[in-house]
Amino acid sequence: MKDGDNIDVGDKYDKIMKLAVRRGFYWPSYEIYGGVSGFFDLGPLGVRLKNNIVGLWRKVFIELHQDLVVEIETPIIAPEVVFKASGHVESFTDPIVECVRCGRKFRADHLIEAAVNIKTEGLSVDELTRIIRENDIRCPSCQGPLSEVRTFNLLFKTTIGPYSDNVGYLRPEAAQGMFVSFKRVREAMRNRFPIGIAQIGRVSRNEISPRQGMIRLREFTIMEIEFFFDPDDPRCDLLYRVEDRKINILTADMRREEIQEPQPIKISEAVDDGVIKIPWQAYWMGVSDVFAEALGVDKDNIYFEEKLPHERAHYAQQVFDQMVKVSRWGWIEISGHAYRTDYDLSRHIKFSNQSLEVVKTLDKPMKITEKKIKIDKLKIIERYGGESSKIFRALSKVDPSEIHRYIDNNTGKILINDVEIDPDIIVVEEHEKEIKTVKFIPHVVEPSFGAERLLYIVLDNSYTEDGERVLLRFKPYIAPIHVAVLPLLENDESMVKIARGIYKKLIANGVSAIYDSSGSIGRRYARADEIGVPYAVTVDHQTIKDGTVTIRLRDDRSQIRISEKDLISWIRKETEEQLWRHLDNIMM
Ligand code: AMP
Repeated sequence: MKDGDNIDVGDKYDKIMKLAVRRGFYWPSYEIYGGVSGFFDLGPLGVRLKNNIVGLWRKVFIELHQDLVVEIETPIIAPEVVFKASGHVESFTDPIVECVRCGRKFRADHLIEAAVNIKTEGLSVDELTRIIRENDIRCPSCQGPLSEVRTFNLLFKTTIGPYSDNVGYLRPEAAQGMFVSFKRVREAMRNRFPIGIAQIGRVSRNEISPRQGMIRLREFTIMEIEFFFDPDDPRCDLLYRVEDRKINILTADMRREEIQEPQPIKISEAVDDGVIKIPWQAYWMGVSDVFAEALGVDKDNIYFEEKLPHERAHYAQQVFDQMVKVSRWGWIEISGHAYRTDYDLSRHIKFSNQSLEVVKTLDKPMKITEKKIKIDKLKIIERYGGESSKIFRALSKVDPSEIHRYIDNNTGKILINDVEIDPDIIVVEEHEKEIKTVKFIPHVVEPSFGAERLLYIVLDNSYTEDGERVLLRFKPYIAPIHVAVLPLLENDESMVKIARGIYKKLIANGVSAIYDSSGSIGRRYARADEIGVPYAVTVDHQTIKDGTVTIRLRDDRSQIRISEKDLISWIRKETEEQLWRHLDNIMM
């Protein structure tokens, strides 16, 4: 198989890996101790590239939406209750299978897909075990028989402080930090609504057997927005910015009909036809499409795949994965777009007994039936004796109109935290009342990106061979190094002096630059191309005479000559123009 640049895609991945290690983009962590899979170090160029990708995300998703979206930072370790409330302790699992002979453990769904090419997403452990048995799938290492498939929780567990019962977890997503601090953010932002809360930070997932380099890590940087809106008014007043944009979509219905080719659809149509249920979700998908193109991914290599109900995470009602094509791995997910409903806030309300609702003023007053809890104190004391004060305390924390939320479906009892109360001990009285405001629990749509995956995507899309030449065609605004400054003759004092001056000026003006004076000019160009430097500035004989320099462009090797004085403004203008060619799409 070949891609457009005539590189055998089978070994493009290996070439990128070798280049990444040699030139300092990334390499496996803990290498001197044999390495641990799922962990990668970023080298000097990798850190710069990642920072630029994160910076672009921040610009597109936060800065260009600053009247809507605010950024926060919350800890990576959370007490157990947070992930009990979020459902991760129970449901954040992958299927695992063990070799009965050699004891090696594998991710069951991946093992099956590799062995018999059956799609397994969302299948139960019993179904996976059945497929393994029916197809006689064996241990890929020793050919031994495999155990039953079971679930494995991907949360990294720890303890907080010196108490072994004080369990904490490393967060697998940043989202819970935004839900838990939702009330504080609203207060700080003077109750702005709708509101997006963004976070960029490290997360950890104890992946079972990660083998896809930077694509599947056990620790990575996530970039997420939880966008909170009123479910009774889900209109998106920014939709006009992307409504005419076409995105490629493979819907759940198409997948059920075994259609494999995504179809382009206008975002406005996707919303009108109910393909994307929530307009705000459609908006963020449009922005993500723009963002992926701005990273350098071709429009034809991007599509959104709707997940089938059994493939969705436990919290989501509609999910689209943004898929991008890469060599070796084919289509991979670069972002998830989940309609999380009020699931997370409702769960945190239940587990924390705090009110996380939003109050809105009605257009006109409304009559409602108000509920009040009447407590039969005597009955409580008679029935619960010494435990009564616990019951009173629990009931006092509950909003009477919300009491139905605390009724346990199985037992019919009222359950407030750990306190169980017989339902006949309270009477809920109802009476009519006129109200001017109502409380509601916001619904949420979430776009979520992994930074390291994007870093690989950018490398995979940039890697090009042109004869003997290897170049990384980074968009100039994400290139780790913008400019290489090269004195034509290493031993010419005047040239060296001017070149050093240019280099210093670039750095002082925030333009990332390298100074390279060793070897032939051709070799120096090649070194710069290989790490994706878009502009190489050469100081030559003419520079000494008239103060002009040549700028050699990486992609087509063309050269222009400009005055050294105009260099910084030229680079800025060129870079900005290329960026805004993409971002103008969402700034109408
Ligand atoms: P998810 O919450 O699973 O939808 O993940 C959100 C995003 O994080 C994905 O779209 C990926 O870009 C990224 N991601 C998820 N898992 C990993 C992983 N194990 N390693 C690197 N990136 C990941």
